[in-house]
Amino acid sequence: MSHPYDVLVIGGGVSGMMAAITAAENGAEVVILEGNDRVGKKILSTGNGRCNFTNEQLGVENYYDADPAFVKPVLDQFSNRDLINWLQSIGVDSKVQSGRVYPANEQATAILDILRLQMNRRFVRAETFKKVRSIRKNDGLFEVSSVNGEFAAKKVVLACGSKAAPHTGSDGSGYLLAEKLGMKVKKPLPALTNLRLNAPYSQEWDGVRVDGTITILVDGREVASDTGQLQLTDYGVSGIPTFQVSRYAIRALDEGKEVQAILSFLPGMDEEQAFDCLMARYERVKEYLARDFFIGLLPKKLAAVLIKQAGFRHSKPIRYIGEDGVRKLAKLMSGMKTDVRGHGNFKQAQVCSGGVLTSELVPGTLESRKNPGLYLAGELIDVDGMCGGYNLQWAFSSGAAAGKAAAGR
Ligand SMILES: Cc1cc2nc3c(=O)[nH]c(=O)nc-3n(C[C@H](O)[C@H](O)[C@H](O)COP(=O)(O)OP(=O)(O)OC[C@H]3O[C@@H](n4cnc5c(N)ncnc54)[C@H](O)[C@@H]3O)c2cc1C
Repeated sequence: MSHPYDVLVIGGGVSGMMAAITAAENGAEVVILEGNDRVGKKILSTGNGRCNFTNEQLGVENYYDADPAFVKPVLDQFSNRDLINWLQSIGVDSKVQSGRVYPANEQATAILDILRLQMNRRFVRAETFKKVRSIRKNDGLFEVSSVNGEFAAKKVVLACGSKAAPHTGSDGSGYLLAEKLGMKVKKPLPALTNLRLNAPYSQEWDGVRVDGTITILVDGREVASDTGQLQLTDYGVSGIPTFQVSRYAIRALDEGKEVQAILSFLPGMDEEQAFDCLMARYERVKEYLARDFFIGLLPKKLAAVLIKQAGFRHSKPIRYIGEDGVRKLAKLMSGMKTDVRGHGNFKQAQVCSGGVLTSELVPGTLESRKNPGLYLAGELIDVDGMCGGYNLQWAFSSGAAAGKAAAGR
């Protein structure tokens, strides 16, 4: 058993490193126990290697089904501005693209390197190959048992991440540790991932990228919708708008509900407007073959799928379809409805929805109500943000809040 550290952090992701740095800045002697051979593995794959660490617009509304009374005090303690300014003050400038904030050199390694440097400068020890198996309290001290040694600490921050991208170390063991300490966990499910559609034509549209809207219906009721570039694949649909709505579809599927996706390839237009738009085109290009009707409007592969789904022959002149035919195409283009039959797994998901219930924690300090002296941070908590830098911001903010509280300041 080690001598008792002031603060022991379990998990060396962004939230754990931020908790450790903040606790050390507040005078604590800190150690991180990390199961992997190194800290911060997940950071390197964020934002396609560019690390979209926050967003210019930050609010509770960027977190799904978030309780403002829980999320806001954490974001307020270390906001997007605080994060950008702090990184700048320690050497990492940022760059903004469509509101998304990246390190100026667009290298995720910049974020990992600077966090490691800050840890070194504050004498935070990082003990690797120390996957934690149990935590218990004895005589006012936490005894933490890892596969490679026993540690003692006055305070503990649990920051083990979720089950998303388990190859980076977040294999869900944090949920088990929390449950063993009596905390309630909402079933973690993949989020920010692709959806598998019951669409027999998906082989034909594989590889198409097109602007559109995806809307999710659960038991016939609209629950979420997002617009942007849809990526059509041989299994269904991917891309950022799909990621944004996926957590609703996945939770509903898990609950045995009927889930459908409506894809619209004329974003912002309802069926009637789509009809007017296509009718005007029809009048202009009546002499074209059906397969050429959508030239300049839709990618070829998608046009072929729509024409086939409407029951028309590609090689016949479009004039034969008449007004009723145009209406049929407008209906498909503005609302192609299919059943959702599956989704990306944990390996493919960027985050999880679910996790340790926020009601288990004291808002602002993130201390466990049932285990005084134990704090939680990061994705382990039942808070999931939209694509756009919100999950890393949560990891930074919650890490800062937990680290500060654990250090006793
Ligand atoms: C491919 C991909 C791209 C992403 N891109 C973005 C993006 O651009 N912007 C954004 O905001 N978010 C992005 N995210 C989400 C974001 O990376 C995470 O929400 C965030 O990193 C979570 O940080 P964390 O510290 O809570 O958990 P993690 O980063 O998962 O860290 C948890 C750490 O705990 C360790 N650990 C787990 N169990 C134990 C144990 N029992 N004992 C010891 N150590 C343990 C793990 O090895 C790991 O190092 C992306 C995620 C993925 C997978």
